[in-house]
Amino acid sequence: MISEEKTTKTADPTISREEAIGILNTQDDQLDELVARAGELREKYKGKHVGIHILTNARSGNCSQDCAYCAQSCRSKADIDKYRWVGDEKLYRDNDFVDKYHLSRHCIGLSGMKFTDKEIEELAVRIRRMKESGTHLCCSIGFLTEKQAHILRDAGLDRINHNLNSSRGFYSNICSTHTFDQRVANIKMLQSVGFEICSGGIIGMGESREDVVDMLLELREINPEAIPINFLLPIEGTPLGDIDTSVLTTEYCLKVLCLARLMVPQADIRCAAGRERYFKGEEKRLLTVVNSIFASGYLTENGQGMEDTIKAITDAGFTYEVESA
Ligand code: SF4
Repeated sequence: MISEEKTTKTADPTISREEAIGILNTQDDQLDELVARAGELREKYKGKHVGIHILTNARSGNCSQDCAYCAQSCRSKADIDKYRWVGDEKLYRDNDFVDKYHLSRHCIGLSGMKFTDKEIEELAVRIRRMKESGTHLCCSIGFLTEKQAHILRDAGLDRINHNLNSSRGFYSNICSTHTFDQRVANIKMLQSVGFEICSGGIIGMGESREDVVDMLLELREINPEAIPINFLLPIEGTPLGDIDTSVLTTEYCLKVLCLARLMVPQADIRCAAGRERYFKGEEKRLLTVVNSIFASGYLTENGQGMEDTIKAITDAGFTYEVESA
């Protein structure tokens, strides 16, 4: 069984910035060739395995930050549920679900950028309990202090998600309340504490192809264990609610994922939000490139249910179960 762990094998060619831009500009009639090239690396590092992740939105809404794409931000008027804690019953039920289906990971999202030590201690208690069944856990949790990072690491938390979201040059267009460099610094601190890192971005927010490449170059430097690529699902009530997403053709989205695979081949490349919209009926080509997806929805948007997700994976000739968590 091939796990979603980082694997060291023979060196792959390093893609330059110019080459990367060229890959995003690949003609559509040459896309199959590009998919095959990315697919070789996918197979080399990940075999036929697809990691399925389940997301629990543990704290929702009322965020102090103003990320333009996010329904939970302080400038969003989106009609979403808002709560400070999801409730243990739902959290543990989702964790049991991950164990029951032998899925790869339980991801726990918490809105907000800062947490008190007490909140982190309370989260650590829940992490400890969920780790008793051996579930692989990841928290998406804003900026932690080093002390807080140690508390969660000591509780057994394996991985933290902290996305770059876009390039350094484009970042101020989507957020004014924190900087790109704060995000990079937070990730480096988390790595120094011993966390695996999940870090990726969102495509379709008005950024250029060069911005996509620059974000991936930064991610290559960070060398995260997982790179989630989200394709924007504009949410009514957010500043990007009515943005033109015509750039997000299936072909372009696939080129972005191929580029992520070619640039950081050993990472788990995840097609996150937008999969159901932009890759409908394209599961085979998609899974030839990516080895990780979400099932059962995203933080504030619905997604494909578990049974349908498993069917799509097995119909495309891939496997999903982990032998033991
Ligand atoms: S993306 Fe995270 S930090 Fe930004 S507004 Fe949403 S919850 Fe807050």
